[in-house]
Amino acid sequence: MTKAFDDLDLFVIGGGSGGVRAARIAAGYGAKVMVAEEYRVGGTCVIRGCVPKKLMVYASHVHHEIEDAAGFGWSIPQANFNWSTLIANKDKEIARLEAAYIANLERSGAHLVRTRAVFEDARSLRLSSGELVRPKNILIATGAAPNHGRPIPGIEHVISSNEVFDLKEQPRRILIQGGGYIALEFACIFAGLGSDVTLVYRGDNILRGFDEDVRKHLRREMEKAGINILTERTVTAVERHGGEYIAHLSDGSSVGGDKVMFAIGRHPNVANLGLENAGVDINPNNGGIAVDGHSRSSVPHIYAVGDVTHRVNLTPVAIREGHAFADTVFGNRPTAVDHTNIPTAVFSQPEVGTVGLTEAQARVQYSHVDVYKAEFRPMKATLSGRDTRILMKLIVDGQTDRVLGCHIVGPEAGELIQVIGVAVKLKATKADFDATIAVHPTAAEELVTMRQPFARYVREAAG
Ligand code: FAD
Ligand code: NDP
Repeated sequence: MTKAFDDLDLFVIGGGSGGVRAARIAAGYGAKVMVAEEYRVGGTCVIRGCVPKKLMVYASHVHHEIEDAAGFGWSIPQANFNWSTLIANKDKEIARLEAAYIANLERSGAHLVRTRAVFEDARSLRLSSGELVRPKNILIATGAAPNHGRPIPGIEHVISSNEVFDLKEQPRRILIQGGGYIALEFACIFAGLGSDVTLVYRGDNILRGFDEDVRKHLRREMEKAGINILTERTVTAVERHGGEYIAHLSDGSSVGGDKVMFAIGRHPNVANLGLENAGVDINPNNGGIAVDGHSRSSVPHIYAVGDVTHRVNLTPVAIREGHAFADTVFGNRPTAVDHTNIPTAVFSQPEVGTVGLTEAQARVQYSHVDVYKAEFRPMKATLSGRDTRILMKLIVDGQTDRVLGCHIVGPEAGELIQVIGVAVKLKATKADFDATIAVHPTAAEELVTMRQPFARYVREAAG
C-alpha cells in the first residue's frame, strides 16, 4: 500500500461539487484527505449538468438575438447552426474545467484517486484496485443519477440527460417526457436550436410546486415558441423503426421523432455502495442518506452531502454543505446549512427565477397576504415585435410587510433572482423595495415600482 493511504483524516467518495469543496476546505485545515472519483472530476454539474447545459442554453438564445436584430436595422444573411461545432467546443471547455478542478484539488493538498470506493464495513473502504483504506472520517458525496421510471417496452431506446450532451447529431424531432427543470430546459434548448419538440407531462401543468402564475406563464411562452406540450399523459412504450422512434402515449396517441428523452427526476446514488455493511441509514422519506443538521449520518464518523442526501439538489447547496461539513469537523467551527429561501432558476426560455414562498404557500402559512404582479413586453423585443412577455410577482406578508417570495419569468431571471435572494434573506419589506430608486430603463425596475397590490388576501382567525 502506498504511503498516501496511511493515516487518512478524511476519505471523500465522489469528486463532484460537494466532495471537492469539502476535500479542499478540510485539507486547508491541515487534514490528510483522499478523494475517490470513479468517472470524471467535477461531477454532474461540470461534466453533464449545469455547465454544459448553460453553454447549450446560450447557443439556443442566438435565434432570438437574430430576430430582435432585424428590428434594430440589422440584416443578417441566413444564419446556420452547426451542432458538431457546439458539442466539440463544449467538450473542450468541460475538459479545461475538469483539469482546473483536478489542479485546485491537488494544490489544496488533497490526494485524488481515480477509482470507485465502496464500504467493506463502517471503518473500511475497498477501492477498485483491491486496496483497503481505513480513514478516520468518511464523506459520502456520490450524487444522483437519472430515473428511468417503471419499465416500459422499448425503454432501452430512451436517453436521459447523461446522454443528451454527447449526441452525434442534433435531433430534428425530439420527444421529452417530464415537466421539471431538465425537461423544460432541454425542450427550450432544442426548440431554440430549431428542433421540433414535443413535451409530455403526466400532470395538468408543468413545474409542479412553482407559483401557479409562473407555471401558466412559462407554458404559454413555450407554446408560443412552438413547443408542443401534451399534459395528463405518459409515455407507455417506445418502438424503433430504423432511425426513427415512435413513442406511444397513455391516451392512445403516438408521437414520432428521432430521439426520445426522459427527464423524470433523479435518485440518490446509494446503491452498491455497501452502506448496509457500514450501518448507514437511508432516509425513508426520500431514499437519500439520512443526515442531521451537520450532515452526519447514523454512523458518527460517516457524513454525507449533496444530492446523495436528496435535500435540495442544486450545486450551490452541495458546495455549501461540503464547506459546512469541513468547517464543522476539521475547522472547529460547527456550521449548519440554512436551507430556507434558496434562490433557484430554471434556464428555460424565458428563464424562471424564484425565491421564497409561492402565493399558494404564503396563503396557507400567513393570514394576510398581498400579491403584487406585473406582466409586460420586454423593451428589447418592441422593435422586432417578437411576441414574448415578462412576469414579475412579489408575495408580501400583509401584516409585517415582509417580502416572502419573488417569482420572475423573463430574460436573465436567474441573474435577477440571485440579487433579490439577498433582499429576501435580509427580510426586506415591501417598503424597502419601494424606497429603492429604480434603474431605468430596465425590466427589473418593475420590482421596485409595483405600488398597488394585484390581490390582497385576509384569512379570519378560526373562531
Ligand atoms: P455530483 O456532482 O453528482 O458528484 C458525485 C460524484 O461521485 C460523481 O462524479 C460520481 O462519478 C462520483 N461517484 C459516485 N459513486 C462513486 C463511488 N462509489 N466511488 C467513487 N466515485 C463515485 N444544479 C444547479 O444548481 N444549477 C443548474 O443549472 C443545474 N443544472 C443541472 C442540469 C442537469 C442536466 C443535471 C443532471 C443536474 C443539474 N443541476 C443543477 C444539479 C447539480 O448538478 C447537482 O445538484 C450537483 O452536481 C450535486 O453535486 P454532488 O457533489 O452532490 O454530486
Ligand atoms: P424534477 O424533479 O425537477 O422533475 C421531474 C419531472 O418528472 C416532474 O415533472 C415529475 O412530475 C415528472 N415525473 C416524475 N416521475 C415520473 C414518472 N414516473 N413518469 C412521468 N413523469 C414523472 O427532476 P429533473 O429530472 O428535471 O431534475 C432533477 C433535479 O436536478 C431537479 O429537481 C433540480 O434539483 C436539479 N436541476 C437543477 C437545475 C437548475 O438549477 N437549473 C437544472 C436541472 C436539474 P411531477 O411534478 O408530477 O412529480
